[in-house]
Amino acid sequence: MLKYIFSPIKIGKMELSNRLVVPPMVMNYCNEDGTATERFIAYHEAKARGGWGLIITEDYAVDPRGKGFSRIPGLWDDSQIESHSRLTERIHKYGAKIVAQIYHCGRQTNHLVIGEQPVAPSPIPCPVNQEMPHELTVKEIKEVVEKFGDCAYRAKKAGFDGVEVHGAHGYLIAQFMSPYSNKRTDEYGGSLQNRLRFPLEIISNIKAKAGNDFPVIFRISADEFVPGGRTIEDTKAIAIILEDAGINAIHVSAGVYASADAIIPPSAVRHGWITDYAAEVKKVVSIPVITVGRINDPFVAEAIISSGKADLVSIGRGSLADPEMPNKAAAGKFEDIVQCIGCMQGCIERLFKNIDVKCLVNPSLGRELEFAIQKAGIKKKILVAGGGPAGMEAAIVAAKRGHEVHLYEKADILGGQYRLASVPPSKGEITTFITWQKKQLNKYGVIIHLNTELTAEIADEQKPDIVIIATGGKPFVPDIPGIDKPNVVAAHDVLSGKADVGPKVIIVGGGMIGSETANHLANHGKEVIIVEMLPQIAKDEEANVRMYLMKDLEEKKVVVYTNTIVKEIDDDGIKVERNGKTEKIGPADTIVLAVGVKPVNNLAEQLQNKVEKIITVGDAFEVRKALEAIEEGYKAGLEV
Ligand code: SF4
Repeated sequence: MLKYIFSPIKIGKMELSNRLVVPPMVMNYCNEDGTATERFIAYHEAKARGGWGLIITEDYAVDPRGKGFSRIPGLWDDSQIESHSRLTERIHKYGAKIVAQIYHCGRQTNHLVIGEQPVAPSPIPCPVNQEMPHELTVKEIKEVVEKFGDCAYRAKKAGFDGVEVHGAHGYLIAQFMSPYSNKRTDEYGGSLQNRLRFPLEIISNIKAKAGNDFPVIFRISADEFVPGGRTIEDTKAIAIILEDAGINAIHVSAGVYASADAIIPPSAVRHGWITDYAAEVKKVVSIPVITVGRINDPFVAEAIISSGKADLVSIGRGSLADPEMPNKAAAGKFEDIVQCIGCMQGCIERLFKNIDVKCLVNPSLGRELEFAIQKAGIKKKILVAGGGPAGMEAAIVAAKRGHEVHLYEKADILGGQYRLASVPPSKGEITTFITWQKKQLNKYGVIIHLNTELTAEIADEQKPDIVIIATGGKPFVPDIPGIDKPNVVAAHDVLSGKADVGPKVIIVGGGMIGSETANHLANHGKEVIIVEMLPQIAKDEEANVRMYLMKDLEEKKVVVYTNTIVKEIDDDGIKVERNGKTEKIGPADTIVLAVGVKPVNNLAEQLQNKVEKIITVGDAFEVRKALEAIEEGYKAGLEV
């Protein structure tokens, strides 16, 4: 059915068996000296085994001063070649091709990562990193050009099938190419030809050192989405010049750090949103064009290639969510594919903290060896209490390991509170994970007991070896006068459709749940006020997700009171303390409470000494995010 994505293609002399590409994504899995760890290799190996035609690795620094994160790979020294040779050897066993993306981050780093002042074409700080860079002299520019060529040569020696020159996302090459960051008046600044001198010298240096036939892909941001930055028309002109300089493919992305949501968009952004830009570039070049941009489904990739807008499709976070996507798609096992839900919790949120990347829907990401699912030596009877994502994950892993697993859920439907998280606008894809989990439960023979709360009595009857408690949490009810009034409802009941809400609503608590509930209600025409005691709302939301949420709330005219403490709930509003004064906020028909969640776990105590082992996971243990809950569920499945 998917004949386009599974057709072969050539990039220069490199022959690819299909059009599915893993684009470069920083994982922070390497050693600090830039050498490859077994974790880094195993992570890539899972992709090669999963059937991807081309893997483009994350940014190989050409110089330690060009590192944007602590634990990225590097090929700035011959001593680094050996560990990366082991990587390419392992990838080639599966018939996949592997290309090293090579880069220098320029001003988009800071002294905490590189231990010195960043460099740039001009002494203008990156608005995100905010460190004044050193303006490169012409001599220093020439040295960096040599480093790119040396790095490409080392990549060739290490067995890579080509290199991708990172000219996108506001890194050093992009800084030179853009009038947004390049204010030089020498031969490297000003006109388009001058701004392109740096990348053109790099391409020429690579070809001189690694050979004319060593494939070179160039990555570029179609539009930088910053005032004074490059636009698609500039990019098309640049693409023509780069093709003439001998690049073998162009990889069209978008954005710089100051428009980071364009680089890594959350679920609020449409699938394949950069593809129309790639199509524009494709009109002016004859080399293959690679597109990217929140593509998480093989059918979307197929539609892109069949429509002729691009020749190859990069699926980044989709490949983190499911490294086996190509194999499953080729076998027609579409329902087995775990899709990226654009949550940002495991990947970008952790990367912004400069720590290793994880994935909410794929706990084994980056722990392919440690988290491998092996058959259990002895088949046991496992009872799982709670059919939220943590409980379901525990049940799936335990069942895959060959145990007899019973899953108890007191509601008439699986998904727990995570199902409610899918209700607000832009969050609908969360349900793809819940439906995937349900499918896996059935596939691996988990016995599901809906409308049944696991009790000590049931446990006595069933005589399990192990009980996994994943009973989640319940809304916290604060001790405020008026809390029992009939106009007061919980956000959870609003999202589940249990509570009716009047036309004017006050939401007490502006964390992630309160703010998303406000967005949901405003989307349905309600007049909404959020009251939050902290200085900002939605602070527990991931940065890029929060950005879109805040825009939504503003557009829908949601009123926000911060630094405001609720003192009392009335029939038609609330009394609050604000700026040292007591005032009334309202009128409102409904007061929605979203002031937090507390763990639910009555079972552990009742089962003490009755079963071999009790494992408590997720919110039942401690209220946190779905990322932690699902990982704990997975680990519990491994532990039993
Ligand atoms: Fe996608 Fe979320 Fe996984 Fe990141 S953590 S890859 S956004 S599902």
